[in-house]
Amino acid sequence: MENLELVRNQKLDIFPTSTLKDYSQVGQSSYVQRGEQKGENPPKPKRKLKLHEKIDNQRQTQKHLINLLDEIGEIEQSSKTKMCCQKFVILSCGKHIAQIIPNFRCEFRLCPFCAYRPAERKVKKYLPLFDVYLKTHRATACKLNLTQIQKKGETAEKSLDRLQKSVKKFVDSSFFNKVFDGGSGSYETTVSKLQNPDGNWHFHCHLTVLRKRFLQPDELERLKRLWKRCSPKAENLWLFPVGSLEGDLREQIKYSVKPASIENFDADKLRQFVQLKGRRLFFTFGKFKAFCQKESLDDIPSDATAKEKKKIEKRNSRITLKRELIQSARKRLVPARKEYFEGDCCPTCEEALFAVRLTRNALIAFDHKLQFQKE
Ligand SMILES: [Zn+2]
Ligand SMILES: [Zn+2]
Repeated sequence: MENLELVRNQKLDIFPTSTLKDYSQVGQSSYVQRGEQKGENPPKPKRKLKLHEKIDNQRQTQKHLINLLDEIGEIEQSSKTKMCCQKFVILSCGKHIAQIIPNFRCEFRLCPFCAYRPAERKVKKYLPLFDVYLKTHRATACKLNLTQIQKKGETAEKSLDRLQKSVKKFVDSSFFNKVFDGGSGSYETTVSKLQNPDGNWHFHCHLTVLRKRFLQPDELERLKRLWKRCSPKAENLWLFPVGSLEGDLREQIKYSVKPASIENFDADKLRQFVQLKGRRLFFTFGKFKAFCQKESLDDIPSDATAKEKKKIEKRNSRITLKRELIQSARKRLVPARKEYFEGDCCPTCEEALFAVRLTRNALIAFDHKLQFQKE
């Protein structure tokens, strides 16, 4: 906590509401549920898939996606996705795989091989910002999930519009800002046959909110009523304290559509989703949004009075300190991924790595063989 000492000793008003204690343990049990889904908790982590199982699943989803893209005449996207992650260069010692480099990525929002990439970039950017915010403010990170009622026959665009409007109203309201310092959010949709026998779009919003203080039961009720006012007949609102900030943030922004849902897409659903192209599905809001904004240092004009000079210096040192804190959090929380080259040591067994070119099927077979040798 060297950095916190630094802030405390310099008595900077960088974080004016903060008394700079470690508040991460305060109010861990604020928890609310609505509706009949009593006892439902956030999904439990599933068994980690082996590499060949994962690639095999992704291959199935990709195939389905390509068929639908062809069906709706998105030929350019379809041919890009056809080429995506078909061939790889593998760095291996013969017993372990140190790195997999695909020859080409299509970067399509729904491609099972590429969909997680924009989310990873956001985690890298926002995780250090959340970390510094939490260490320097009196706030606790919570997950807040918002859902709206489904409307039969509503298009993806209309459904998303409706939810975005409600969420904006909700997070801009004075009561919300009284108890939360803002946060980040993302929109996700499912077209699960199980949840949606009619095949309606089920857009919902995952927020990571910075709770200023523990909410009393009547305040939680008020929060629920507020969401219902913003989104008439809204079904659910959940507020959970965050377990691991990194895990939850990653979960929050992982996909705009879960791969399992893509398998339930038909051509019309895909057409509607493609029409959302360019719509932002991730956002920050409130005080946290302001905190994320980059501030630049001011020059001191030669004719500045002593008072003006002091003011500018104070602002500059606040900005410099904030930058340093964020930089060190970034180094600690999102270290750059190691790149391997031929002849480097394998990170598991230290044997020399060599490069192999493999097709996707050969990669699946190769991993299968490695797993078999292990067992
Ligand atoms: Zn792709
Ligand atoms: Zn090895």
